Amino acid sequence: MRSGLVLGKLFGIEIRIDGSWLVIFLLLSWNWATVLSSAHGDWNVVLRWSVAVAAALLFFASVLAHELAHSLVARSRGIPVSNIRLHLFGGVSNLQREPDSAGSEFVMAILGPVTSLVIGGILLLVTSLISGPQRIAIGSLSQTMTGLGPVMTILTWLGSVNVALGLFNMLPGFPLDGGRVLRAGLWALTKNLRLATRWASWVGRGLSWVLIVGGVASAFGLPIPLLGQGLVNGLWLAFIGWFLQNAAVQSYQQMVIREALEDVPVSSVMRRNPPTVAPNRTVTEFVHNHIMQSDDHGFPVVDAGHLVGIATLEDVRRITRDLWEITLVSEIMTPFERLTTLSPDANASAALDSLAGLDVHQLPVVTGDRLEGVVRRGDIVRWLQLQSDIGDRGRDAIIAR
Ligand SMILES: [Zn+2]
Repeated sequence: MRSGLVLGKLFGIEIRIDGSWLVIFLLLSWNWATVLSSAHGDWNVVLRWSVAVAAALLFFASVLAHELAHSLVARSRGIPVSNIRLHLFGGVSNLQREPDSAGSEFVMAILGPVTSLVIGGILLLVTSLISGPQRIAIGSLSQTMTGLGPVMTILTWLGSVNVALGLFNMLPGFPLDGGRVLRAGLWALTKNLRLATRWASWVGRGLSWVLIVGGVASAFGLPIPLLGQGLVNGLWLAFIGWFLQNAAVQSYQQMVIREALEDVPVSSVMRRNPPTVAPNRTVTEFVHNHIMQSDDHGFPVVDAGHLVGIATLEDVRRITRDLWEITLVSEIMTPFERLTTLSPDANASAALDSLAGLDVHQLPVVTGDRLEGVVRRGDIVRWLQLQSDIGDRGRDAIIAR
């Protein structure tokens, strides 16, 4: 599940880019270069494309600022953030667990769109002060841009994009920020998270159908108020609607699963006596006797009954093959001190949150430093399938996390 390219860290939070982000980057730059050629026919190709690429990069920075707002609030409320991932539809902050009160959920959700609206508002204010307020008149993008220099063109556009980003995310469909705000409100009113999630998820699904139907209609040339017109625009809206539809169903399923696991201890779902490896084995032995013998990704490294670390397929890949024979497992493993572990009586729902939040295949279950077992997503899924009628969609919801 580890996907995407790691860009670096900001405020200690890892920033990742999804492959699909490249698609939106190219589309944006291309779309921009087209808009610019009608607004600024006098600019040469190099200038047009430089402005287009700079605009796309700044769009990326805007999404990042929005996600950072969510993540920093989450962290200030005691919720660890494993990473921020930027993808085709924007970004997502991967929190290691859900907020535990309606108040936290509300503040965390609303500050993302507020950040976008504040950035957008400031940019539009500044650009309209410099170039005259009539610039932001209601007209087509290319009309607004005509006559502006490269920097002002970018800033004006960036201002509107941030405002649009803030407004779109405030749509009340869970799991969009607006849907989370709605859920926080319902949660505070009903004191029932499950009920609140179900209602917010229904509103989300309703909203996504409006986008799908409206998008398809406008792709066929029907003028739909607020949604704009045209084939590309319409298809894009329908596509976003479809994405929201999936997200709404999945978030609700995840909640149901979380509840089903609430009173289940990790010891009931963990795998006892998992295969382990000794720290003094060479990587060659590790590969032949362990990795090649099972479909596990990681193996607990155990020394005289004590867990000393975990060695994974990725750890092996990091060293070149000719060093396998002279490198010990203890040299490539993640040492115990840096591992996230679970205790046997922790609840399985928290285990699932940690697996998803940390984006790892398995977590060791320990008492002190004694290994009791390992817990993997697949094992939790199997347990759920045995216990209830959560079924395939529930399984997909877990796998997709
Ligand atoms: Zn957001």
